[in-house]
Amino acid sequence: MASLKDTYRQRGMRARMIANLRKKGIRDERVLEAMSEVPRHFFLDIAFDEWAYEDQAFSIGHGQTISQPYTVAFMTELLDVRKHDKILEIGTGSGYQAALLAALGGRVFTVERQEALYRKAQKFFASGHFGNVRVFLRDGSKGLPEFAPFNRIIVTAGAPELPAPLLEQLAPDGIMVIPVDSDGGQTMWRITKTSEGKLAQEEHGFFRFVPFLKGLAR
Ligand code: SAH
Repeated sequence: MASLKDTYRQRGMRARMIANLRKKGIRDERVLEAMSEVPRHFFLDIAFDEWAYEDQAFSIGHGQTISQPYTVAFMTELLDVRKHDKILEIGTGSGYQAALLAALGGRVFTVERQEALYRKAQKFFASGHFGNVRVFLRDGSKGLPEFAPFNRIIVTAGAPELPAPLLEQLAPDGIMVIPVDSDGGQTMWRITKTSEGKLAQEEHGFFRFVPFLKGLAR
């Protein structure tokens, strides 16, 4: 269980996290503002209440982790979300990244393959307090064809390759951010699609993610 109380002390720790992200090179004010609005401790077990604003990944159970705040900020900055963008996230996990995308004004469709994590996130977002987020229990490697195309796609698990269905579901002028396996970790790729449908890709450094797996978890 997470605590849904945002104390003065936690707001203070969050402000220090934001200052730290600035120091580490995050520049997009909209991203920093969204991260100061969304309490990260809401997405972690109450046992992490004192630690939630450290720049660290933490366990969310079921062998999965909530990504480090710097990684979340970096990917969100690369994604360059505009208000009303239709966004597909693969790897709901705790729901923290999805809540940030909604705070930026996105209409978020997030997909998770682990039922327990899906249920938790589904219940959390059903309250409607965290904006426009719909949660799906699916194998994200197939995307969500019935809701495509998406202006933005973000994958938050380390993928063995670029999943072709996701490239197809990216709208013209769209951006996809995805960590792809290389040398025992992942290279962060930013894929852009032109208005004519041409793809281009840029590399943005080395990270470590939990694996992107096919099929639903058993
Ligand atoms: N965005 C999350 C980080 C989650 S970790 C957060 O903010 O907390 C990555 C998640 O991706 C895990 O929960 C894992 O179960 C999920 N995942 C891995 N492969 C997947 C797939 N093919 N489809 C959907 N979810 C997947």
